[in-house]
Amino acid sequence: MQSLTLSYSKLAEYDQCPLKYKYHYVLKYPTMSSPALFLGQVVHDTIHSLYSLTGDKAFKHDIFRKKWAEHKARAKDKEGFSMNRDEEMEYGRKGLAMISTFINSEYTEQPEYAEEMFKTSLVFGKIDFLGKIDRLGTIGNTTEPVITDYKTGKFSPKFLDTFQIYAYVWLARDLGIDVRKGQMFFLAENQIVTKKLAEVEFEAVKDVLLEKSMAIYEALQKDDFPPSKGVLCNWCDFKPLCPVHSQEKDQQEYSRSENGQMAFL
Ligand code: SF4
Repeated sequence: MQSLTLSYSKLAEYDQCPLKYKYHYVLKYPTMSSPALFLGQVVHDTIHSLYSLTGDKAFKHDIFRKKWAEHKARAKDKEGFSMNRDEEMEYGRKGLAMISTFINSEYTEQPEYAEEMFKTSLVFGKIDFLGKIDRLGTIGNTTEPVITDYKTGKFSPKFLDTFQIYAYVWLARDLGIDVRKGQMFFLAENQIVTKKLAEVEFEAVKDVLLEKSMAIYEALQKDDFPPSKGVLCNWCDFKPLCPVHSQEKDQQEYSRSENGQMAFL
C-alpha cells in the first residue's frame, strides 16, 4: 500500500464516520462547498495578505472585498457552489467583522510562518502527518512563539475539540521548532482558546495520533468503513448515497445569484 498522508481534518472525519471518510478521501467523491466554507477561505487568504500591511481599516476591508471577488470568480466555475444575494450579504458582513477583529488584535505582525504546510513521518514509510499552520510566531510584545489557528465558525465550548492544537504543537516540535503553546482564535466572537503542551505530554499526543492513524491504515487494508449514524448526518454531503439513509432524499438546494454581483458593501 502507498504511504498514507493524514491531516487533523481527515482524522476527525474518520472519527465522525468511517464511511464518510471513504466517500471523501478514498473514493474522492466531490463535496459541496457552502457560504460558510467560502467565507473561511476568503478570511484566511485576506489575513495572509494583511500581515505587516500598513493602511487604515477601510483599506484593509477593501483587501477583503478584492479577495472575495477573486474567490467568487473562481467558485463560479465549480460544480455545486452558489450563493444567493441574501447569503452573500450575510456572510460578507460577517467576514468584514472578522477582519476588523483581526486588525484590532495583536496578531497582525508578519509571523515566522504563515499559512505553512508542515509534514512529518508518524510511521516511517507508512504514515505521514500533515498540517497547515495558519500562524506560528510571537504575538504583540511577547517573546514566546505560539501556533494560532484562525476559526471562522461559531465558538461553542460544548463542541470544542482542542486536540487539533496539541496535534499542531506536536507536529511543529517534531520538526525541531521550539514551540509549546497553541491557540484557536475564533474571529467572529473574538475568543481565543490557548493550550500548552508540556514536555511529558509530547509522547501522549503522538500516541493518540498513531492510534487514530493506524485505525485508518487498517480500515484501508480491509476496506472496512462502516457508517456511523448521528446528528451530523444532516450536514453530510454523502447522505443521498449512504445506505443508512437510503430512503431519504437530499432536499438541499442552492439558488444561484442572478447577476453575479457582490451583494454587500
Ligand atoms: S450520512 Fe451519516 S452515516 Fe452516512 S456517510 Fe454520512 S455521516 Fe456517515
